[in-house]
Amino acid sequence: MPLRYVLFDLDETLYPRHAGVMQQISVLMTRYIVERLGLTEERAHALRRRYWEQYGTTLAGLRANYHIDPQEFLAYVHNLPVEKYLIPNGELDAALGRISLTKVVFTNASREHAQRVLDVLGIAPRFSRIFDIADTDYVCKPNLQAYHRLLELLGARAEECVLVEDNTRNLAPAKALGMVTILVDGEKDANADFVIGNIVQIGGLVERLLAAPGAGKPD
Ligand SMILES: [Mg+2]
Repeated sequence: MPLRYVLFDLDETLYPRHAGVMQQISVLMTRYIVERLGLTEERAHALRRRYWEQYGTTLAGLRANYHIDPQEFLAYVHNLPVEKYLIPNGELDAALGRISLTKVVFTNASREHAQRVLDVLGIAPRFSRIFDIADTDYVCKPNLQAYHRLLELLGARAEECVLVEDNTRNLAPAKALGMVTILVDGEKDANADFVIGNIVQIGGLVERLLAAPGAGKPD
């Protein structure tokens, strides 16, 4: 089946980890728990670690255990000046321009945050759609249900999709469903069909995938 879609994770996939965006979001998530639940910072950290292991994200854990408003949480933790952390990436814009397939964002973050990041990076026009955490009914990656929901919204089959992620844990369900999986800036493992060191390499890799006989299947 021919490839038709490239699904991009947002945070630390479309920009590097050292940019510091997620570190600041992490500070805000901990602060939210300290303020709203009245926990010490140390306990808030422990809670977040546990939720990450057990539920996939802090938000999923909070929703399972407390009556919190997900929109309020997302607005709070994404309230940061993204433009102070990121700069336009013309090389990435050109790399995305080489990809003839439909490009969408598939993120555990909010649409507003995703849009701000794409705008600051100068790559927003390359994407036809953003699928955020609300689109998947607040079910986050790596829950299989989130991937099924995305495919349903996209009207796509897994075999038609490539998923690009910095988190190998989020590639596992995609791989199991039959997507081609690409890990950015990580160690090769069973979940990743391909690994690239820098997101700007995505243009060339997708071109090679499309040119290869039986496109979509890893070597
Ligand atoms: Mg990420």
